[in-house]
Amino acid sequence: MDFLPINTDEGAISASAAIRTGLSAKGALYRPAHLPKFNRDDFPPDIDLVSLAKTLLAPFFAGDALEPHLNTICETAFNFPAPLTRPDEGQQSLYALELFHGPTGAFKDYGARFLMGCLNALASTGEILTVLAATSGDTGGAVGCAGEGQPHVQTVILYPDGRVSDFQARQLSCWRTPARTYRVHGDFDACQALVKAAFNDPEAKARFHLTSANSINIARLLPQTVYWARAALEAYHRHGVKPGFIIPTGNLGNSVAAHYARAMGFPIGEIHIATNANATLKDWSEGAPFTPRASIATLANAMDVGAPNNFPRLQALEGEARAPVTRVDDETIKAALAREYQDTGYIWCPHGATGIETYRQLSANERDGVWIIAATAHPYKFSDVVEPILKTRIDPSPALAAVLERSAHAAALEPRLEALLDALEGEFV
Ligand SMILES: *Cc1c(COP(=O)(O)O)cnc(C)c1O
Repeated sequence: MDFLPINTDEGAISASAAIRTGLSAKGALYRPAHLPKFNRDDFPPDIDLVSLAKTLLAPFFAGDALEPHLNTICETAFNFPAPLTRPDEGQQSLYALELFHGPTGAFKDYGARFLMGCLNALASTGEILTVLAATSGDTGGAVGCAGEGQPHVQTVILYPDGRVSDFQARQLSCWRTPARTYRVHGDFDACQALVKAAFNDPEAKARFHLTSANSINIARLLPQTVYWARAALEAYHRHGVKPGFIIPTGNLGNSVAAHYARAMGFPIGEIHIATNANATLKDWSEGAPFTPRASIATLANAMDVGAPNNFPRLQALEGEARAPVTRVDDETIKAALAREYQDTGYIWCPHGATGIETYRQLSANERDGVWIIAATAHPYKFSDVVEPILKTRIDPSPALAAVLERSAHAAALEPRLEALLDALEGEFV
């Protein structure tokens, strides 16, 4: 399938080329030329993620250099489950889609593992690709981890110093690939701007064989359609109505993937965006022009985004239609975490808390439907926030416990392109 740059006159390119370059020469995001259509009745209700991934993603890679690798990449990327669980026994039509059972405890494991599998396959001619990953907390860990054992890629992680949890900082800095981690003196938008600046420098891009691991990369987004499609099929078969989705959102990657899954024919009702105090999407949903701005630091730090970078993809798909958005500030996140634990026993992470809060704020009429909230991260990753609120200890999953056993190192970096390029000149250790 062809991939098209959004809002520029540049030509269409292949899936491999879109994955390899990340952004177009003029800085545009790529989108699939069309979305394949599926019939929900063609899938058994209990289909597993790997089988669904192979079927659903095949059309995007038809005729592409990655086509012969797709099945293997899917087997590696989808090797942990995304179960639908009931976070409130009193609400039988409410589900949490738990996306945190992977090795770094957040949904980004799916996209990162898929992307790194693609890049490793694409680079097998002897070239070593450098994956630049700006992260607000979770992406970098997932990418660093996904790069382990992929011999043709090396990973450079940039995170905003002081804006991630202690556990996240360790998880960003502990991977044994040829990986380097920098704590950038600035916020996530500064990290993201640094990556964009490097990509806009043709010399640097060629010299370091740069490629991106951000959710701007189409290979992050496409696999995320799979767990949405699977969750929708399961809920639809069980209840006979299309479930609505509530998605804790930052850069809009997960939300765009859900919109893609719906456009591909999977039984999905309303897609409701939950955000933290960052108001760009809320203002837009209420009719204001889309106005990127500086991000605000919140308890749900992986959603601290003032300029959601997948917005052009949402607009290219949905036109002028505005998704409903609920904005949840820090005080309300804290109250939601405490209330849900007390009332239901379920422990959300601060991101998931924006989702359950959004659900609680729906009208009684809306709540009559079937709803699926993305539980985007394991709460242990944010135990420094969550434990004092719940006044209880959170146990790590076995995968997260293993991270604690590793040594970690991150160097400081000023948010200037020259500083990054200097750093890239050094040896990978
Ligand atoms: C990345 C992330 C989000 C936001 O997802 P986007 O695709 O950027 O909208 C939400 N929650 C967690 C835990 C995350 O890591």
